Amino acid sequence: MPSGLTQRFRHLGIKPKFVVTFISASLISMLIGSLVIKTSIEAFQLGENFKLAQTIANQEKQLLLSAILPDVAISKAIASDRSLQKWAEDEFNPTLKAGAMTEFKAYGTLFSSRHFFYIVDKTKNYYTNHSQDQFFPTKVLYQLDLSKPNFNWYTDATQTDNEYLINLDNDEYTGEVSVWVNAPIRNGKNIVGLAGTGFPITDFLEIFRSVDSDNSTNMVVDASGGILIRAGEFFLDRYSLNEGGLKSRSQLEAIVDDKEQYKKLQKLLATLKVNPSQTVSLSLGLEGRLWSVGISYLPELGWYNFSLLNVDSLVNNQALETSFSIFLISTFTLIVLGLILVDKTILSKIRVLHRKVDESYQHDNRRPLVMAGDELAQLEAAFETMSHTLHVNMIDLESKVSERTQLLKEKNMQLIELSLTDPLTGLLNRRGLVERFGVEIERSRRENSLIGVVMVDIDDFKNVNDRYGHDVGDVVIRSCSAIIAETCRTTDVAARWGGEEFLVVIPDVDIDVLKSILMRMFRGIREFRLSTERGELRYTVSMGAVIMNSVETDMDEMIRAADSALYVAKNEGKNNFHISD
Ligand code: GH3
Ligand code: MG
Ligand code: MG
Repeated sequence: MPSGLTQRFRHLGIKPKFVVTFISASLISMLIGSLVIKTSIEAFQLGENFKLAQTIANQEKQLLLSAILPDVAISKAIASDRSLQKWAEDEFNPTLKAGAMTEFKAYGTLFSSRHFFYIVDKTKNYYTNHSQDQFFPTKVLYQLDLSKPNFNWYTDATQTDNEYLINLDNDEYTGEVSVWVNAPIRNGKNIVGLAGTGFPITDFLEIFRSVDSDNSTNMVVDASGGILIRAGEFFLDRYSLNEGGLKSRSQLEAIVDDKEQYKKLQKLLATLKVNPSQTVSLSLGLEGRLWSVGISYLPELGWYNFSLLNVDSLVNNQALETSFSIFLISTFTLIVLGLILVDKTILSKIRVLHRKVDESYQHDNRRPLVMAGDELAQLEAAFETMSHTLHVNMIDLESKVSERTQLLKEKNMQLIELSLTDPLTGLLNRRGLVERFGVEIERSRRENSLIGVVMVDIDDFKNVNDRYGHDVGDVVIRSCSAIIAETCRTTDVAARWGGEEFLVVIPDVDIDVLKSILMRMFRGIREFRLSTERGELRYTVSMGAVIMNSVETDMDEMIRAADSALYVAKNEGKNNFHISD
């Protein structure tokens, strides 16, 4: 296919493409199928021709024999006639001779040619009535001179083991070529003479004239392959007979086109000779024309009868055309049905799938890169784009998930922090402190250091709320927490313990450090001023502190001790601190 056509084919829709492919494939198989049909019909026809040729060959054989056999039978009857045999042994006995002549008269009427001969072996006298009874009843025509080659037929006929011998020879008297039937007369094993008849070959030819036509003809071939009769014409002439023996003008070998075929033919003829009742058939090219040939063998004559049928004329074109038309129509119907079936079951579904994909792409900017080719190619491209998009989306999704997971982690951290943090002051809440306190206790146990715990409570805070309002109270709480956070060390842990109460854990401490921290806190709170609508606000705190060995005490005990110390400070008049021992 030229490249332009290939391109065009590639861009066809799936349905036209399928139709083109399907029809081409079907046409090729139709072509092959029709060839096979034609060949097999021809082969069948040839087989039929062979049968027909054999039948004709057999019929012609019967016809030929029927022209001779009655004469053969009569010749045999004369030869086996005892009274005639007696006469032949005593030829010149007048009584016997008279009887013989009467017999001859009777026999003579039976032959088809009404002619017969009787040769007495002792004298070689040739008695004959000849046709039209010219020598009625009989007469010695001549004496055979066996030293001459033209009397060889007598020797042949009397020496045969058969009951009779048929040959072709010139009739000395009429000058015509005749068919001669010779029946040896035997007394035991001794030859007494020879009886028989002869009739002109032209009578014989009539049989073949009736069967000869352009498409059907026949041929008679002798044992040596000489053609005696062909297409109703006799191929022997007087000249060849005079030359001595039977010589045909034409040999079978000369008219068979193919040497190999001739060899095959010779084998067939040899087979027939062994099985004379059979007929055989073959295809044979004779002088450029092909024939279906049936061959029969006539053992009585030693001849082969060929019945020839023209191959071409006998192929039944009418039957061929009818079966071919039926084949074409049924194949075409099958093609159409096949197309409809495939369209309904496969192609229509592909088209629906294709339309759906096309629609889905119309809602989207991501059109497939390649939209050329048929629906299948487009579907393939669409699926490729789809799988690519899916892959990209997957990667995008994965990065988003990990981003979100990170964010979630951070949020969780924040949540945890929030859950541990007091919202108003930003210091740890009670939970947060307990967690950190535990860590510090562990560390002090490892390091065998002392831990300080300080409880801070704003004095008379109720009054602050009452006098300045709750919001101002919140500001005071925040300021107190800020001062605590600033004044303690970075390693210290400060928390809002309750409403206006704070707890500070001071790890790795001694009394001096503790005192200095407490003092710094006090100073910070003392310096605090807040101007409000109701004038300047100041406040004080009380603190209870303990220093303890964490190996000996636990968290609760330490907190309770700090609380107790605070209680003492409150009782001692507030705005001071108390450190328990
Ligand atoms: P004392 O000197 O004996 O400690 O007296 P006090 O009034 O400070 O003690 P008390 O514990 O009886 O009062 C504490 C008050 O603090 C009660 C409560 O209404 C108030 N309060 C608790 N939490 C908050 C808060 O978050 N904001 C404000 N504005 N007030 C609070
Ligand atoms: Mg309180
Ligand atoms: Mg208080």
